[in-house]
Amino acid sequence: MRIDIISAAPNLLESPFNHSIVKRAKEKGLAEIVIHDLRTFGLGNYKQIDDTQFGGGAGMVLMIEPISKCIDALKAERRYDEIIYMTPDAKTLNQSTANTLSLQENILILTGHYKGVDQRVRDMFVTKEISIGDYVLNGGEVAALVMIEAISRLIPGVIGNPESLAEESHNEIGALEYPTFTKPAQWRGLTVPEVLMSGNHGQIAQWRRDEALRRSKLAE
Ligand code: SAM
Repeated sequence: MRIDIISAAPNLLESPFNHSIVKRAKEKGLAEIVIHDLRTFGLGNYKQIDDTQFGGGAGMVLMIEPISKCIDALKAERRYDEIIYMTPDAKTLNQSTANTLSLQENILILTGHYKGVDQRVRDMFVTKEISIGDYVLNGGEVAALVMIEAISRLIPGVIGNPESLAEESHNEIGALEYPTFTKPAQWRGLTVPEVLMSGNHGQIAQWRRDEALRRSKLAE
């Protein structure tokens, strides 16, 4: 899978992609992530990418021309399954969307800044808009990172044992994950549920199902 990201603050994105699961996906050749500095496509000597908004009011808006130049150049190279704009006024990212996106071949992610992008960018180019939650970040880079991490671990082959994904919270079954414990069995008087150490796989599976349902009800 190839992920292109357009950003006005590309430095914010460099380091996180060189660690953990995204690094693993890249090393296994299962994900390629390419960051594009919007300023490279800026206008004039000052490489302008933003301007004041029509109608007045505080805050700058990312202009359509630099963004369209960048998107046109990328689209000339390959077909994108989705062109995604990270924005707080969209539907919130969930596991099902991450799952669907993890099966795509090429996605292009546009991150905003300031007041966001000229509306015509959204109307002309964007095929999907995604928020990571009902709060406002300064820029779309961190939102893109969150989404890319959620997607990367679902790309077939990235996680060694895919069974661990099936049992996770927010999977297709809809229940949250059951509580998990590891050694030591006793810690400052806190014990591990006996059933988990019983060796009885049927009872363990039943306990986990019950706990997953209990947790899911509590979170409703
Ligand atoms: N004026 C916009 C509004 O009120 O909807 C907020 C703009 S925000 C300061 C700047 C950029 O950060 C946005 O263009 C978007 O790319 C990104 N952003 C902020 N919050 C986000 C969120 N919750 N999810 C996804 N992207 C977000």
